[in-house]
Formats: sequence, C-alpha cells, structure tokens
Amino acid sequence: MAILLTGGAGYIGTHTCIELLNAGYEIIVLDNLSNSSVKALNCVSELTQKNIKFYEVDLLDATNLENIFKENTIDAVIHFAGLKAVGKSVETPLHYYHNNITGTLILCEIMQRYNVKRLVFSSSATVYGVPKSVPIFEDSPLNATNPYGRTKLMIEEILRDLYIPNEDWNIAILRYFNPIGAHPSGRLGEDPQGIPNNLMPYITQVGIGKLDKLKIFGNNYPTIDGTGVRDYIHVVDLALGHLKALEKVMSSPGVDTYNLGTGRGYSVLEIVEAFERVSKKKIPYEIVDRRPGDIATCYADATKAKEKLGWIAKRDIEEMCADSWNWQFNNPNGYESSKNIHLIN
Ligand code: NAD
Ligand code: UDP
Repeated sequence: MAILLTGGAGYIGTHTCIELLNAGYEIIVLDNLSNSSVKALNCVSELTQKNIKFYEVDLLDATNLENIFKENTIDAVIHFAGLKAVGKSVETPLHYYHNNITGTLILCEIMQRYNVKRLVFSSSATVYGVPKSVPIFEDSPLNATNPYGRTKLMIEEILRDLYIPNEDWNIAILRYFNPIGAHPSGRLGEDPQGIPNNLMPYITQVGIGKLDKLKIFGNNYPTIDGTGVRDYIHVVDLALGHLKALEKVMSSPGVDTYNLGTGRGYSVLEIVEAFERVSKKKIPYEIVDRRPGDIATCYADATKAKEKLGWIAKRDIEEMCADSWNWQFNNPNGYESSKNIHLIN
C-alpha cells in the first residue's frame, strides 16, 4: 500500500516515515524543503534500510503535484506540509494563509481528480485557543488566536465541508498537543532554524551550551508552580498515532477528529527538572514576563483516540527528555552536522 506524505521531510513526517516503513508500507514523500533537510530522509532510509521515493515539490505547484499522482498509485495521503511558527504567522499572515490553505485546496482538488479520498491531516491543539476548562475534549469550543491557528481551523472546516457532498471521502483530523522527543537512535529529531521558539529545543540547546539560560515565560499562572502547563507527547508515539489513523481511514469512517496527547500536563519547571534528571545537565533559567498569547494550561482528553483508533501514548516524560537530549548531544548543529549519505531516489 502506497502512502503519500506531504511535508514528510519534517520533524513529525520523518518519524512517521520510519514507522510506516517498519510496518511495511510503501511511502512517497513530497516536500519543498522550506523547513527541512533531505539529510533527514537519508537518515530514515539508513535506519530502515528501505528506499523512499522523494519529490522536491511545493504543494502550490499544481502541475508537479499532479505529476506525482499520475506517476504513482496512491492509497492515502498524510498531509503534514505547512508552515508552523506562530510569531511568523502574525508577521506574514498572507504567506501563511496562502501556503497552508491554498496548498491544502490544491492537494484536495488533485486527490479528488485522481480518486484518492483517504486523508490524515495534521491539525493542532492550538485550534482550541484559550480553553474554558481542561482536559480538552474534541468537542470543546474552538477559537484559534493567531493566523497559524486559524489556518488549521479553516482547513478543518474545509475538510468537513468537502465531506458533506462527497461521502466517499474518509478523513482523520489529528489535533496534536506538544510533540517533543526524537528517534531513539539519536539520528532524527527536531532541527529548528535559528533560536528555538519552543521549550524543549531551547532547553536542549542550553544543555549543550549553545544558549546561556532558559527564559521561563511567567511564573504567576494559576498552575501547580506558576509556570505554564502543556501536554507533551513523544514524537514516536505521535508517529504511531498516524498509523492507527491510517487504518481508520481505510475502514471508511467518514470524517472525524482526534486529540493526540497523553492526557497529562507538565509545567515548565517540571520539564526542566525531568530534563536535568536524565541529562545530568544543569539548566540555568530566569523568570521573565509572560509571552503574549500564551495560555496557562492545556492538556488533552485522549479517550476518543484510545477508543476509536486503539491508540495510546506510551512514552513517559523522562523518555521524551532523554531522546531529545540524545538527538541534540549527537547532532549539536542538527542535520548540518550529520553525515550525508544517499539512499533516497
Ligand atoms: P516541520 O516544519 O518540521 O514539517 C513540515 C514540512 O512541510 C517541512 O518539511 C516543510 O519543508 C514542508 N512544507 C511546508 N510548506 C510546504 C509546501 N508548500 N509544499 C511542500 N512542503 C512544504 O513541522 P512538523 O513539526 O513536522 O509539523 C508537521 C505538521 O504538524 C505541520 O502541519 C504543523 O503545523 C503540525 N503541527 C506541528 C506541531 C509541532 O509542535 N511540531 C504541533 C501541532 C501541529
Ligand atoms: N516556554 C518558556 N520558555 C521558552 C519557550 C517556552 O517558558 O523559551 C514555555 C511557554 O510559555 C509554555 C511552554 O513553555 O508554557 C511550552 O511552550 P512551547 O512554545 O513549547 O509550546 P506552546 O506554547 O506552543 O504550547
């Protein structure tokens, strides 16, 4: 069975490639490499000893996208491709709306034309905005608070609308909570450009000495210790969630939405402590002002994914920290410092 992964060279995409290949799927990756490196796909090939069919194509390039559907028999699409930096989306909203939404429209039109109607889509917990209560259920109110989040919310609505007159489509919308961690080999992980915006890559870069200290954004939230609480999920668990979602869309369920999280929240200070425990590195920090737009607490109710997909996150916070550290320690400059081998075609 052949699966097309848009954005498959990225952080979550490459980890999903590994699990799909290990499970015996044939995979085709499309990526414009705007936020990724082909070296990551080389690592996937090396780790699995399997070939990946790779197209360096932009989703907005309808002609070349269509050629992929002409050249291959595709059974389903996992649609990761998108821009994801909240701050950048505020600075360049039109770029974000065009890339994420127009790209998805072009993809769905071509899928429809080629009769490929099984889709797994990467959405985000950001579509819940400021939650009225936690845990967050799939039917909790939706209210994205920035252009990035609104692209996810709008795409979700587009997909639900697409289904209404086209009931032969089968779509799983996955709302990820906070993916961290890396492949246990230490060969694959998150490779942010410049200074990281997210907590875990910032911590690991402090750990390796690239950054001086962590700035903790506020310690006066109504949480266990005043710092923000999030539902961190190991990227390998997240990748495995895509295999379960794929099985689900193969069984013709229509369109449905699932939270992918652990159901447990950790504060920033708890993450720092867990990281220090497993890495034996001290993480100096200072408390600074709250980051605009941040919320106090966000964690999932992941019961629906358990009951309907048969999926549950198994890796604990220490494993998440250990694998993040292993990746950073072995690749201080991300893929820039990893050796270049050529196994993809
Ligand atoms: P990533 O940036 O590592 O991967 C996304 C990939 O899409 C990149 O390789 C990029 O080059 C590619 N891409 C972007 N625009 C493209 C286009 N027009 N054509 C072709 N390729 C394009 O991000 P990730 O962390 O792997 O996230 C994957 C998906 O999950 C994204 O849609 C993201 O919004 C969503 N998501 C991520 C997180 C997170 O914290 N990492 C949380 C929730 C949702
Ligand atoms: N955070 C922090 N310092 C940083 C980055 C993040 O204190 O340098 C906090 C942030 O305020 C939030 C948590 O860590 O409470 C997770 O932030 P991240 O950006 O990773 O995820 P998101 O806020 O998008 O859920």
